[in-house]
Amino acid sequence: MLAVASPALADRAPAPPPVGSVAWDIVSDLTTQVGQRLAGSEAEARARAFAVERLKTLGFRNVAVEPFTIRGYVRGTDRARLTAPVPQALAITALGYSGTTPDAGIEGDVVYFPTLDALKAAPLGSLAGKIAFVDHAMRANQDGSGYGPYGDVRRHGPTLAAQLGAIGVVIRSAGTDWHRNPHTGATDWDAGTKPIPAGAVSNPDADLVARLARGGKPLRLTLALTGKTVDGLPSGNVIGDLPGRDPSLPPILVACHLDSWDLGTGAIDDGAGCAIVTAAALRAQEGGVPLRTIRVLWAGSEELGGFGGQAYAAKHAEPHALAMESDFGADRVWRVETRFAPADKALADKVVAALDPLGIVAQPGEPEGGTDVVFTIMKQKLAVISLGQDGTRYFDLHHTPDDTLDKIDPELLAQNVTAWTATLKVVANAAGPISPVP
Ligand SMILES: [Zn+2]
Repeated sequence: MLAVASPALADRAPAPPPVGSVAWDIVSDLTTQVGQRLAGSEAEARARAFAVERLKTLGFRNVAVEPFTIRGYVRGTDRARLTAPVPQALAITALGYSGTTPDAGIEGDVVYFPTLDALKAAPLGSLAGKIAFVDHAMRANQDGSGYGPYGDVRRHGPTLAAQLGAIGVVIRSAGTDWHRNPHTGATDWDAGTKPIPAGAVSNPDADLVARLARGGKPLRLTLALTGKTVDGLPSGNVIGDLPGRDPSLPPILVACHLDSWDLGTGAIDDGAGCAIVTAAALRAQEGGVPLRTIRVLWAGSEELGGFGGQAYAAKHAEPHALAMESDFGADRVWRVETRFAPADKALADKVVAALDPLGIVAQPGEPEGGTDVVFTIMKQKLAVISLGQDGTRYFDLHHTPDDTLDKIDPELLAQNVTAWTATLKVVANAAGPISPVP
């Protein structure tokens, strides 16, 4: 039995990667030679060294590390176990910036909330000495818009539970898969709110808790989350330029983030983004160097609070023309949204026309850019292009142990590079000024 090759495994053997693909090699090498790259960690420092070497090898100029320090989160042991009405272990991960339990954990009665709104409606003090459990029902969709409202359970649920007196809080992961994988991610504590231990359980474990809660018997939980928030950890951005023919024209900024969560190896979030923007910047040079410089930004510490994007905006007051980011996996680009000043409508139309042969449709919208570029965009009122990827699978994998290289389809990754290249060829060759967007 053991000696027989499994047909199921043979079926899912990945297609051989394209030979000599810049994008595939970046994400493959980054996830293999560095692996997870938690912000502020020694691994993130190795990732910066990898980035510098790779960008130089690929011919980028002015390659530099721009260091900064962050408030980071150093993971400890993550453990949760229901002790009543029936003993059951739960698959849990601490959220970034969780409060810290003793090694032995804490124990308390569980108060079940079906939604974040139910938690918001709980009376002050009603959770004293208790552990809050916050459920919700995120479902997959193409544009990933569920992450706004359901991600709020992670971002703001813990602070609300702490303000109501809870000693700990557990949420259903902000994720759409049915694997027994919890999804991590940072939580935001309001100023003045003392952090309490905060974790997320996998969807199957959240279902279990919900069934037991419906049964009406009291639930008790032990929770051990021993990680710590640590100030002053080293991080940094890595930048590199492909100089344009006219150095007097402000550059096009294309960004991704180099850090990742620590449960997987950061393939879709966001090794793929760095692979896509970098390969496309290079491909845009084919057939003639563009007028404008294209600058790549591999930002550090995005996951813990957008530190890299803020550091870049603070350091780089020189004018930029336009900014874009890839941070939504590696599945197919299917739509484009643009934000240009009315004076640049012709340029916006040209971008849309360049993407039309790829079947990418223009959608109305006011893209703000991602976390790594939004601070620069706001400060300089930059034009923005957003190439929207299919997000149907993204929140199955996001921030889980399943964020690994095998989840990237080389053909879809290549489609991303093609779409980005077509876009960059238009905007990097725009001769006139690209106006600030009011
Ligand atoms: Zn990301």
